[in-house]
Amino acid sequence: MACQLNISHKYKSSNFDSRKKKITFIIIHYTETNTFKKALDLLTNKIRKVSCHYLINTDGKIFNLVNISDRAWHAGESKWMKSADINSRSIGIELVNSGEKKIKQFKKKQINNLILLIKFLKTKFRICNSKILGHSDIAPLRKIDPGIYFPWERLYKQSIGLWAKDRDDKSKLTKNEYKELIGNLKKIGYCYLDNKIFKKNKFVINAFHRHHIPKMTNENPNRSTLFKSRDLIKLKKN
Ligand SMILES: [Zn+2]
Repeated sequence: MACQLNISHKYKSSNFDSRKKKITFIIIHYTETNTFKKALDLLTNKIRKVSCHYLINTDGKIFNLVNISDRAWHAGESKWMKSADINSRSIGIELVNSGEKKIKQFKKKQINNLILLIKFLKTKFRICNSKILGHSDIAPLRKIDPGIYFPWERLYKQSIGLWAKDRDDKSKLTKNEYKELIGNLKKIGYCYLDNKIFKKNKFVINAFHRHHIPKMTNENPNRSTLFKSRDLIKLKKN
């Protein structure tokens, strides 16, 4: 199957080594840079030792920096379900965007081409929707990209990733409901959760909010969070 997209091979990064696992994930990032040039400098810098497979500029142009068969260095210390070494198992896609803190919406053309690229990769490597994730999902203690402005719902409408509708209920969680939420987050795939010291789970809950209920990012979990976690588990089973 040929990719219908025009992918440029003009720039290459030497920041990679060999894959040790089969490709099962797609991980989405933002570059946290204002310009394409700054992003490219970073992703090809031999001292910084970071890279990705695809870099998508704000105008939608796609650049392949590392061969898909190689292990690019984009995920860092990260985990999902029982999988570690996500770099070995994933395709990393970076979007040129200055980041959540600068309140920069993603460009339409950039997202349109991201969708086309993911559709192509998803079919080619038979990647499940539950393994199309953001950097913050797999590294919740360290990362917040692709941030609250990333349009997960729009991707879901194109059959990419998992998404459930909001069920607004601001009621506080009981102790048992909180425990259920932590269990549900684990079932969904989130790691770094603590069964005993609940305060420690703040960052993981935040990663969940950031992806699935962005308006609740930095807030305490409530029944909306719990309902969303239940709905996502149902979706995952289907
Ligand atoms: Zn990232």
